[in-house]
Amino acid sequence: MSVTHILNADLHCHSIVSDGTLTPEALAQRAKANGVDVWALTDHDEIGGQARALEAARAVGLRYLTGTEISVTFAGITVHIVGLGMDTTHPALVQGLHATRGGREQRARAMSDDLARVGIPGVYEGALKYVDNPELISRTHFARYLVEAGICRDTNEVFRKYINDGKPGFVPHRWATLGDAVGWIIQSGGMAVIAHPGRYKLSTNEEYALFTEFKAHGGQGVEVVTGAHGVADYVKYAEYCKEFGLAASRGSDFHSPEESHTDLGKLPDLPGSVTPVWELLESRIQ
Ligand code: AMP
Ligand code: MN
Ligand code: MN
Ligand code: MN
Repeated sequence: MSVTHILNADLHCHSIVSDGTLTPEALAQRAKANGVDVWALTDHDEIGGQARALEAARAVGLRYLTGTEISVTFAGITVHIVGLGMDTTHPALVQGLHATRGGREQRARAMSDDLARVGIPGVYEGALKYVDNPELISRTHFARYLVEAGICRDTNEVFRKYINDGKPGFVPHRWATLGDAVGWIIQSGGMAVIAHPGRYKLSTNEEYALFTEFKAHGGQGVEVVTGAHGVADYVKYAEYCKEFGLAASRGSDFHSPEESHTDLGKLPDLPGSVTPVWELLESRIQ
């Protein structure tokens, strides 16, 4: 195992530019305080926080990789593809993400209409109170409002009862295709990484298809150690790294001190058998 293998890299988290509750600056400070060596801010379908994150990382002495987490529709469900180390001014990336964000406003209004029909009015307006970036209204903002309104005890309960697939406030949405998302990341000089694969409700065959197609599009990494994975997932996806020839990533998926159970940088090391994505991204680290 190389020396850099055990770097404290946290390459997945969210700021107020998407559905996190902290600013890029506060995240940089928190990452530094928690002992992170290499950090990436990966807002959903957004790179609007990247310049602030890089500047804040420099100010506290953190090494930085640019990042985003793209929403993709695959086999009828939503999967997330993390991009790392892109040139965030590249037109393919900028335009692709802009288009991916485009449907969120209409989806949010439809979700609110559906919730009004089951007796919960005013959710769109309520959710907006939690939104900092008008282009990025997310289900997380709905969840925060429904907790505030006393409808549920915590955001997890909101997802379970109201806004997960099959629940009254869920509105199906067509996100980017897998090929487009991976393509935007690669064209802009970055590395595409399958985010938290252990979270998806895919059959074994569908999961195999996801990894096979991702690889065929030029994807190079998969999150092995993330806040959403347990020990069995670490073992399983370390095996997938070998089987599919992928590098391994590590990221907390931190959103908020109040809501996230995994804090920035507070994750186990990657298994010794895998190649860390940051070793392949050395030249992209700023
Ligand atoms: P959206 O992109 O608007 O569909 O929102 C997806 C976001 O919802 C994810 O990135 C998570 O931050 C959040 N989320 C999904 N499931 C849950 C859950 N069970 N509890 C809390 N947050 C969740
Ligand atoms: Mn999120
Ligand atoms: Mn995700
Ligand atoms: Mn995430």
